[in-house]
Amino acid sequence: MKKKVSLKWKIGCYLTFFGICFLATLFLFQMILLQPMYEKYKIATVKHASDEIVTAINSKDIADVIYKVSAREDVCVRIISGRHDIVVGNYDSPLYRMNDQEVFQQIALANDNNGAYLAEKINDTIPTNGEGHYQDITYTRLVDSNRGEIVVMVYAGLSPVNATVKTLRLQLFYISLILVAFLILLTYLLNRNIAGPLLSINNEAKKLSCGEYEPQHSCKQYLEAEELNQTLEQASYDIQKADQAKRDLIANVSHDLRTPLTMIKGYGEMMLDFPNEQTEENIKVIIDESERLSYLVNDLLDLSKMGSGQVKLNLRVFNLSEVVENQALKYKMIEKKDGFIITTSIEKDLYVEADQARIEQVINNFIINAISYSKDDKRINIRLYRKDSNISFEVEDHGEGIPEDKLKDIWDRYYKVDQQHFRAKNSSGIGLSIAKEILDLHHAKYGVVSKVDQGSKFYFQITYKILDLK
Ligand code: ADP
Repeated sequence: MKKKVSLKWKIGCYLTFFGICFLATLFLFQMILLQPMYEKYKIATVKHASDEIVTAINSKDIADVIYKVSAREDVCVRIISGRHDIVVGNYDSPLYRMNDQEVFQQIALANDNNGAYLAEKINDTIPTNGEGHYQDITYTRLVDSNRGEIVVMVYAGLSPVNATVKTLRLQLFYISLILVAFLILLTYLLNRNIAGPLLSINNEAKKLSCGEYEPQHSCKQYLEAEELNQTLEQASYDIQKADQAKRDLIANVSHDLRTPLTMIKGYGEMMLDFPNEQTEENIKVIIDESERLSYLVNDLLDLSKMGSGQVKLNLRVFNLSEVVENQALKYKMIEKKDGFIITTSIEKDLYVEADQARIEQVINNFIINAISYSKDDKRINIRLYRKDSNISFEVEDHGEGIPEDKLKDIWDRYYKVDQQHFRAKNSSGIGLSIAKEILDLHHAKYGVVSKVDQGSKFYFQITYKILDLK
């Protein structure tokens, strides 16, 4: 596997690469391209000046134009028209000294090249420092004007760039030194302010799997690091919580599995040892306890499926009023013998589009909990009513209630307010977390209003389905 490079190294490498590219570009332009670019620029200047003069050749103020162009572009101009021959510009220019034969030669070359010829020639003048050489650029054009054929010659001299290159080389050396110092400083700052916080978060995050993340203070330097720090802090908290919940689950589930198993084993052994104990009643105990076991296992399977998003809702339109009515009736008959007073207020024919079996599961859970956590006051009120586009289902008891700081946690997996509490017969201890998953899948609103020793009201709201009766 390719070895991964650390962020600090990466920053260093990128900045070095940037420095090398920057210096190479500077070297290319200042040392290598200086001469050709300078030459190109001068040729363009000469041609441009010549164009300007040719354009104005027939105008009255041609003389003005020639003087202006010559002064502005620092070029020397020679105009030959019939017997007139004038030269404007720098007196050092070879255009002044050019004899007739040389002039004719330039004209002949222009003639052979569609009326324009650019001559480049090394100048004999020796530079004062003795290095390099001057160069002459003469652009000759033959122009037809209303005064007959006119020869326009424009001259510019190229100075040797050797001295300039020498100066630039020295400059380049100092620029390189400054750049290296600057890049070292920049690398240090980036490593300290950008990579540093990330590295400390990264080091700390390695302990995350044990839920031991310590928030890093250095990461306040910039937004992303701070957000990452907060996310990891939250993740660490969640991991700790999940870890605790897992431990609780194992304790709860083992306890819950052990009770029916002990009963089944005990009754089985007793019936084996004492054949006269093989009564219908004892066999029923074994069947009941097996049923309790199967409820527990089913609930656990349900929850794990929901947690991993494997549950698909079987949506269809049904009469929720009838479902609530039937469930309430079931509990009314069961609980009458234990002194419960279950009252209902159910609005008729409220339809919803939902998974009926799952919604029944939630309704059952709310009612079973209300029964389980009622104390002396055994009144339980079940309500179903429509409010605007929603249908509300509520189960209210007058039992022990839930402390305010625990209200959020009861929907978490495996959470129990009182770990030692008496459990309803077929409750697995994860009923509310299953209810929460089901209601989330239905995009339903749900919640609980509760006061300790006064009771609780669990509710959910689901969208009312308007039936198309056509
Ligand atoms: P359990 O099988 O423990 O009832 P649930 O997931 O259904 O599991 O409920 C989680 C916890 O919420 C319960 O252990 C209990 O502490 C609390 N709870 C649920 N319903 C009620 C209620 N009606 N009154 C008081 N506490 C309740």
